[in-house]
Amino acid sequence: KFITFEGIDGAGKSTHIRYCADLIAASGVELVSTREPGGTPLGEKLRELILHEAMHLETEALLVFASRREHIAQLIEPALARGAWVISDRFTDASFAYQGGGRGLELVKIDTLANWVHPELSPDLTILFDVPLDVARARLDATRELDRFEQEKADFFLAARNEYLRRAAAEPARFRVIDSSQSIDAIRVELDAIVAALLAG
Ligand code: C5P
Repeated sequence: KFITFEGIDGAGKSTHIRYCADLIAASGVELVSTREPGGTPLGEKLRELILHEAMHLETEALLVFASRREHIAQLIEPALARGAWVISDRFTDASFAYQGGGRGLELVKIDTLANWVHPELSPDLTILFDVPLDVARARLDATRELDRFEQEKADFFLAARNEYLRRAAAEPARFRVIDSSQSIDAIRVELDAIVAALLAG
């Protein structure tokens, strides 16, 4: 199974991904836990460029998809082929949310890239951690040094969040939307049920 985790910066994704990874691994399933941009040595180099260099927005989209192409070939497809599960911290929905919603790149261009880079591959399940902007912002400000996306203004994140929600509404069978302004414990109750259903199916 291929499971992806999405949400705007400050939604609390990383904590919850570790929790889900532990649950899945404890069941005995072989699990590969990875992230985007990145996930391979070349992808991690691209990630550094994407996060820290100013560039044209189409260059940004192309680099994200270049990282993704490598990620699929080197890591995701081989893992799925041998029956392992893959969980990824972000995938193509993030391109629609950030390069599309946030930066305003035409969604049709992102569709074109997605159809080129992974015509056959789509996550079996996508967990979207949804959180109001002010909550996300407060969490970000309380943590680490911010990358160039995290320094963006509220309207960038608002547009990214809206694009995530739009995609979730359009594909309800693939998405689970979690209200990430809840307590960690309340979110874990939801994640327990989602992971149990995955393991049973
Ligand atoms: O999820 P994580 O915080 O590791 O993502 C790193 C940064 O890359 C985030 O600030 C996110 O906004 C940005 N990003 C992006 N476009 C993508 C994926 C991630 O701008 N397609």
